[in-house]
Amino acid sequence: MSDFVTRSAYPMIPFDDAMEILSERIAPLAPHRVPLDDVLGLVLAKEVCAEGPQPSFAASTMDGYAVRADDSVQPRRVLGEQEAGQVLDITLQPGTCVRIMTGAPLPKGSDAVIPVEWTVERDGWMQTETPVEAGRNVRPVGADLAAGQRVLPAETVLGPAEIGLLASLGMVEPRVYPRPRVAVLATGDELAPQGQPLLPGQIRDSNSYILTSAIRTIGCTPQRMPRIADSREGLRDAILAAVAQADLVLTTGGVSMGTRDLIKPVLEELGDVHFGRVAIQPGKPLTYATVRGVPVLGLPGNPVSTLVGFEVVVRPVLRLMARLQARHRPERDVRLRHGIRHAPERLEFHRATVEYREGQWWATTTGSQSSSRLLSLVGANALLRIPQGVGNLAEGARVRAIMIQEPECEEPSCPD
Ligand code: AMP
Ligand code: MG
Repeated sequence: MSDFVTRSAYPMIPFDDAMEILSERIAPLAPHRVPLDDVLGLVLAKEVCAEGPQPSFAASTMDGYAVRADDSVQPRRVLGEQEAGQVLDITLQPGTCVRIMTGAPLPKGSDAVIPVEWTVERDGWMQTETPVEAGRNVRPVGADLAAGQRVLPAETVLGPAEIGLLASLGMVEPRVYPRPRVAVLATGDELAPQGQPLLPGQIRDSNSYILTSAIRTIGCTPQRMPRIADSREGLRDAILAAVAQADLVLTTGGVSMGTRDLIKPVLEELGDVHFGRVAIQPGKPLTYATVRGVPVLGLPGNPVSTLVGFEVVVRPVLRLMARLQARHRPERDVRLRHGIRHAPERLEFHRATVEYREGQWWATTTGSQSSSRLLSLVGANALLRIPQGVGNLAEGARVRAIMIQEPECEEPSCPD
């Protein structure tokens, strides 16, 4: 039997120190070329310039008739039809016109387009009562992009508009910071496989599902590893297999002080442990190590600790690895609808719903904050940040709320 150790060898460090250690040690992944279909939400590594002008030919912006503006309202003979995607070999002489479609190149000799709604065509002749000036309804060469123009600066986050621009320039494999690949390793002797009856003392694994879905919400690729029992050899093999195929490894369970909590000793054996306890609630035994150059974050086994740990620690780390500058959820000052009991030793992330009523932001707790009670996160849109050193809070007290359903920004505060 192992000795029951009663004191942790790891100093308890403040949350901000833990985040600083992580951001000092973890770097963005090296950029590489990624197919355009797969770059949504990724960050562009190099600025993009237009090689040539867009459009590269003068094009009609209307369905109608390409004309010589000088002809004014005189009847014009229709020489043919100019559709988009081809170039007719026709030159307009005075008194002639060409039927033309939106996006089609302007035939030689024409300088304006009269919309079809303003015309009548009969027996090969077009008539109009509306004169147009030269250039009307024509998109000139370079109207959208000039040749050589910088289209997107480096570090642009690629959304539909940016991806459309890259496609219009024919850049089907831009250089971007790739999505981190994240391995998820749920550990614990008590975890029963889904779909099999529970034996006495067993529980279902919720953490690996929590993590794979949380990882997907930020567009990263999760890789669920087989569940692993609390044995040194098993954990060693599983962690080595995980670091060989991932940019970040997340483990759950086995980081506390029990005799079967073996993650920390195994990480010590395989690499370097940078911290092993953080003064937060939930999630105190949170552990950070590097194994073969790959960061490993050990999250405690309680499902709430796992998900809150993902939200406040893993998410910003993954966004950093993807070189996103926006890494902070917005925060706002809110007032408590009720008192909260709080032990001052740790920074608490209290699950709550925050809403705007009568000119104020108000927070309501989601009930029991037990680390095993996932219901405390269901429907929660905020984590109330109750700082270390603060005791119980009374109804009406002001606290800071981290808005966990709102997209990240570069600065944490948000306008009230
Ligand atoms: P540990 O961090 O291993 O001490 O586990 C803390 C608590 O979380 C224990 O009650 C475990 O049974 C529970 N737990 C550990 N892993 C999981 C998991 N994957 N899914 C749900 N609960 C878990
Ligand atoms: Mg355990």
